[in-house]
Amino acid sequence: MNLHKLIFTNNACYKAGRRITPKGIMVHSTGANNPWLKRYVGPDDGLLGKNQYNNHWNQSMDREVCVHAFIGKLADGTVATYQTLPWDYRGWHCAGSGNDTHISFEICEDYLTDAAYLDKVYNEAVYLCVYLCELYGLTEQDIICHCEGHDLGIASNHGDVLHWWPKHGKNMDTFRAAVKDKLGGSVPDTPVEPEQPGGKIKAGDLVTITGTKYYGGQTIPAWVRKQKWYVYEVSGDRAVINKNESGANAIMSPVRVSDLALAGSAAVTYRVHTVVKGDILWGIAEKYLGSGVRYKEIKALNGLDGDTIYSGQKLKIPN
Ligand SMILES: [Zn+2]
Repeated sequence: MNLHKLIFTNNACYKAGRRITPKGIMVHSTGANNPWLKRYVGPDDGLLGKNQYNNHWNQSMDREVCVHAFIGKLADGTVATYQTLPWDYRGWHCAGSGNDTHISFEICEDYLTDAAYLDKVYNEAVYLCVYLCELYGLTEQDIICHCEGHDLGIASNHGDVLHWWPKHGKNMDTFRAAVKDKLGGSVPDTPVEPEQPGGKIKAGDLVTITGTKYYGGQTIPAWVRKQKWYVYEVSGDRAVINKNESGANAIMSPVRVSDLALAGSAAVTYRVHTVVKGDILWGIAEKYLGSGVRYKEIKALNGLDGDTIYSGQKLKIPN
């Protein structure tokens, strides 16, 4: 999953600040031929590209509309997910009671005939749903599309996504089956390469940035270059950094592996947790780090590829 975050703090829905307890996930697609994330997500973070009409949704709008995430294309054409609302905020996405219960995301439509594009956004959506299910204790049965929401009486009368996916042999049943297949397993980000030729940067490493441009060619600001960063994932010659040395300042930015240097063995201090039956990474992160979402830090520190842990395993816990 290529997950980024750009919360719509200027959208009235975010400002309303109403919370929900997520009971399900509603899949939408935009209904307009525009696969570019920048149409909806902004302002430009260096990856999205500039929306020349400035009509993205991170502003006060003439109608009440907001979702928790978008899936579509970055400026360089790669497919990504952008979280645009905290997952437990109440979105405005289905004009029905589904707003009070469902996390929502929009998949940016193209002209609906490109099977390769659908493949990419569909897979991205599968991983997003697996991630959200694990986050909120949901199952594939809790996932519906807008069209199904209407049949259930909790959403307005829209056809998404069933006007699109069946053209390419996909539907909500194949989607739920794909999510079910991955639940309980690991959520691979882009494939992680074990060793870089000529380099040895890997997920979890503390690095300094020696280059001046992000992977996409945009300039890396000086304040970013001044700090040390943790590597979130490495894929080919592309690395994503997401946290500074103190663990704050979460960003998700791709840089070239060749533009990174190990920051040396920083004095990392950690505790050790011995896994007992019933433990899951999420629960361990919640217990020691105060937040389940920080399970990725435990994974990174221990070099875990998947989410599977076993009784008796000794896990390093970051301080
Ligand atoms: Zn919809």
